[in-house]
Amino acid sequence: MAMLLSSLEQSLVSALEQMEIIDAHEHLGPEAERLAVKVDVLTLFGHYTRGDLAAAGMSEDDYETIQNHDLPLEQRWRLFSPYLERIRWTSYTRAARIAARKFYGADDINEKTYLSISEKMAAANKPGLYERVLRETCRIRTALSQCASTDLGTPLLTPVMPLTTEFLTWEQVSRPTVTSWAGARRPMNPDGEVRTLDDLLDANRAYIRAVKAEGAPGLKMMSHPYQPPDRAGAESCFRQLQRGEVDSLPWSNPLRDYVVDEMIRFAGEQDLVVAVHAGYWGDFRNLDPLHMIPLLERHPTVRFDIYHLGYPWVRETLMLGKGFPNVWLNFCWTHIISQRFARDGLDEAIDLIPSNKIIGFGGDYHLPVEKVYGHLVMARENIARVLAARIERRQMTEDQALTLARKWLWDNPVELYRLEV
Ligand SMILES: [Zn+2]
Repeated sequence: MAMLLSSLEQSLVSALEQMEIIDAHEHLGPEAERLAVKVDVLTLFGHYTRGDLAAAGMSEDDYETIQNHDLPLEQRWRLFSPYLERIRWTSYTRAARIAARKFYGADDINEKTYLSISEKMAAANKPGLYERVLRETCRIRTALSQCASTDLGTPLLTPVMPLTTEFLTWEQVSRPTVTSWAGARRPMNPDGEVRTLDDLLDANRAYIRAVKAEGAPGLKMMSHPYQPPDRAGAESCFRQLQRGEVDSLPWSNPLRDYVVDEMIRFAGEQDLVVAVHAGYWGDFRNLDPLHMIPLLERHPTVRFDIYHLGYPWVRETLMLGKGFPNVWLNFCWTHIISQRFARDGLDEAIDLIPSNKIIGFGGDYHLPVEKVYGHLVMARENIARVLAARIERRQMTEDQALTLARKWLWDNPVELYRLEV
């Protein structure tokens, strides 16, 4: 199960295992949220593996069935297991298998082990789970987590909140509200009423001030194709909604583009990081990292943390880090998208990007917290293999290599997000 590593690679992995780290991106909610749901082996196949199951041919209905804990596990496993064979070798599945081995003592996830994994998982789903997985096993000091709530209940999680929300309908504009994964709603301005475009900006600013005061060091946006900010165009969209001339604006519209631009500026004034999902998701043509270039140029003093190496636009994203002093590159999610691509990207990033601009790890999970460990094992293997090759070529010493890794996993995220750890 463990990857066969050279003795140098293994010694680097051992050194990395001793390091305390910052996990630079998760979607973990408060622990109580996880403890409130029934879990079994199929919980390990929620989240990203869901996409692999769908791509492998599993219908939406069958996915709902395997996650329906009111049905017998044996029945759900029979439905699931042919698909497991199809996704067995994806990087997403590897994270699940590493987690099952570490926490539930199973060398593989199969016919012989699924019942015992499920029993052990259910027994371990109790208070202290996050401490055991994140602190004790992963040595994470804190994880930057996005679940649209700042009330995370533990210093193990540090909230990152949405930069803004959707303003497609008058309902959304007049009562702007951020919604959490668990469905909790947070009004941007609980006391105010939005009657003008400036009211809307004020509401968004009040929200950003509030979440900063509640401990969020950053705000998250998407690398959508934004047009240059146009106040008159935004005013016109606002009035169309207010007068009921349209029920809903198109997804890409001047109101969105103007508010996003204003809030990026405000985030910078508040010394908050703007984190950016770039690349991979759904119709990923709408998430090209190059959409960010006009914004990076318009906001040179705002710190942007660009995620996922913009997969599949890896080289393009590396060039953002190469060419823009206000860009950091965050390897969250990358090692489980494809362990191979992340290793190549990291190697190339060493050549291209100043060492203070690379953020090495973010698990990027919600319910299956155990897979944060699976992902971290894969990230450590990648880091060790990339650095070992450089050491073997006499390009750096082992000490220099570990200093670099410490920057990626600790110094850089602490500095970028001004974390008090
Ligand atoms: Zn994410």
